[in-house]
Amino acid sequence: MPDIAMTAAKSRIFHELDFDKPGKQIGYLRVPQSRDGGAWSTIEVPIAIVNGSKGPAVLFTGGVHGDEYEGQIAVSRLAHRLDPQSVRGKLILMPAVDLPAALAGRRMCPIDGRDFNRCLPGDPRGSFCQMLAHFIDTMLLPQVEISVDVHAAGNAMEAALSTTMHWVNDPQVVQRTKALAEHFAAPYNVMFWGVDEGGTMASAAEARGVLAISSEIGGYGRVSVEGVRVAERGLDNVLKWLGMIEGKPDTSQRDGTPGTRHMQVRDQTSYVFAPTDGLFEPLHLAGAQVRAGELAGYLHFVEDWSRPPIPIEFRTDGTIWMAPGSGRVRKGDVVGVVMQPFLGN
Ligand SMILES: [Zn+2]
Repeated sequence: MPDIAMTAAKSRIFHELDFDKPGKQIGYLRVPQSRDGGAWSTIEVPIAIVNGSKGPAVLFTGGVHGDEYEGQIAVSRLAHRLDPQSVRGKLILMPAVDLPAALAGRRMCPIDGRDFNRCLPGDPRGSFCQMLAHFIDTMLLPQVEISVDVHAAGNAMEAALSTTMHWVNDPQVVQRTKALAEHFAAPYNVMFWGVDEGGTMASAAEARGVLAISSEIGGYGRVSVEGVRVAERGLDNVLKWLGMIEGKPDTSQRDGTPGTRHMQVRDQTSYVFAPTDGLFEPLHLAGAQVRAGELAGYLHFVEDWSRPPIPIEFRTDGTIWMAPGSGRVRKGDVVGVVMQPFLGN
């Protein structure tokens, strides 16, 4: 039996992996989780390490949210199919970061009720998500130059297939991150302003000088056929771009455009909110072109015949990035997000 390597002095997570050993290791991070009937129980979070010849190092993650499936499939398949003999550099692959949420098909972790993507940089003495976030931040991110965290829009929405990136103050970092997104080559790349969205993988990566993109490729709580294709091709493209596997990135798009389109969510008018609780009927699919004043949908009140449906309008022109489809919404829920072409450099 291999030696059990205790990881960072402060982390309570243990494993039997050697991050520098040549070849492929598929194993688990064991996160202590005492419970009734299991005093020394652990939650085994899957992780793979592929070490080829000397080269770049990347971290690919899926399942940070459990109701987003495309990244779980793409990262898991990549771990199985990569042959370390034909890889340059190091890959760290985690297909289901928030494993309890992935098994439950939920956004929030059922163990501690947290959104994993708000827990970075984490806490070694904290809850399941906080412990794991701390491990990723202190043990995995310092080993890599690039992080790709594959998300989709979850149960509530569907996204026009896109990567996302932060707009940071360093122009060189922006250009390199744009190049990373262009080589992943989703149909769209959406820019955000502001680094700290509250503890995300991308902001933790950026804080450690790691180039980071995320994605929104799917949604409505199901597996998007096109989302899986874009995710798998995107991860392969990044590896080809970095020279980690053989081949040239394929950045072509189904509609004939030569590559990803850089977009932005300009301001608060891009968001459409539900004015009250109700049943939302959307009128458009993600990717549709809309104008300010055009109807986004209707809010219905099936429990109260006296209330006619409320029409809800878009507030700005653009392309629908996030389209809702979950049915019941609450006052203040987002029922649509519109993006516009990126106007910067
Ligand atoms: Zn997500």
